[in-house]
Amino acid sequence: MTADVEARAKEDFGADQRLETAPMSPAEMITALQNYDVVLASLGDMFSADIFAAAGGDIRCKLLANFGVGYNHIDIAAAEAAGVAVTNTPGAVTDATADIALTLMLMSARRAGEGERILRAGQWNGWHPVELLGTHMSGKHIGVVGMGRIGQAIARRCHFGFGMRVSYLARSDKTLEFPATRAADLVSLAAEVDFLVVAVPGGAETYHLIDEQVLAAMRPEAFLINIARGEVVEEAALIAALQAGNIAGAGLDVYEFEPKVPEALKALENVTLLPHLGTAAQEVRSDMGQMALDNIKAFCAGQDLPNLVVAR
Ligand code: NAP
Repeated sequence: MTADVEARAKEDFGADQRLETAPMSPAEMITALQNYDVVLASLGDMFSADIFAAAGGDIRCKLLANFGVGYNHIDIAAAEAAGVAVTNTPGAVTDATADIALTLMLMSARRAGEGERILRAGQWNGWHPVELLGTHMSGKHIGVVGMGRIGQAIARRCHFGFGMRVSYLARSDKTLEFPATRAADLVSLAAEVDFLVVAVPGGAETYHLIDEQVLAAMRPEAFLINIARGEVVEEAALIAALQAGNIAGAGLDVYEFEPKVPEALKALENVTLLPHLGTAAQEVRSDMGQMALDNIKAFCAGQDLPNLVVAR
């Protein structure tokens, strides 16, 4: 955690700190559930139904305060059944993650990664009129898959900053402060846009939402951008679509088998690959940690949890 979050966790709650940055092992998760009143976990910590079952009747933990808005790594129904409340950190992550989506869109369209690789390799011989020609982003058409907090922040940037036309897929109509069309279905959205940007939560409902059929519907000039969760995109189908030239490129912040990134993706020049940087800004990680601690504070005071996640 950032220094301010670590200091408050210790001062206000006498927190023990786990120093490793790698995800918790099953044994660590089971022990944490059995020995602590509250566990502040993050996206690599896979609190599956098996973990809750293995912790058995010895679960002391009453709150799993997740550091992050996405909670697809926690089996919410199993947590609920075990008497463990789950909270997350919505809102704190929105602008930073939208910024990374725009970074990926621009880098993909303007071939920024490829250009930098050429320069660093000493292979740049100077400007010329038709070198590294990409695609202009202004005025193009974006399709946002999942028009929630982050999806809307991306669309807002695209409309007001880049004069782009906005279409989206969501389960419900949205009232927005800019024009946007709700698509009838994902395939028709994929077929009409220049940038298909994925911003839905992970989990069973959205697993492989972007599959071979959706990728096949995309235009050869279009880019796929994923800042959501890796498993929302069928990675093997994406690689096949890129290798066949069925789409123009992809910009990815997340991966199906994170942190493993397929060599086939790394080999492609028209793919921008970021190491899950969505919320990686000092202030944002601090805000996320403080929000998780606010939930813990409310829990300790016996108050309603501000960011309670409920099984659906
Ligand atoms: P959110 O406000 O809950 O928005 C999610 C949106 O997805 C909602 O609009 C929802 O539609 C829509 N949706 C859910 N399931 C859908 C489905 N099956 N088909 C179509 N639309 C669906 O969440 P958020 O704060 O924007 O965050 C979105 C996700 O981004 C998180 O869950 C997390 O996994 C990911 N994320 C990634 C990073 C990163 O570092 N790359 C950082 C932060 C978050 P309705 O509104 O109609 O319900």
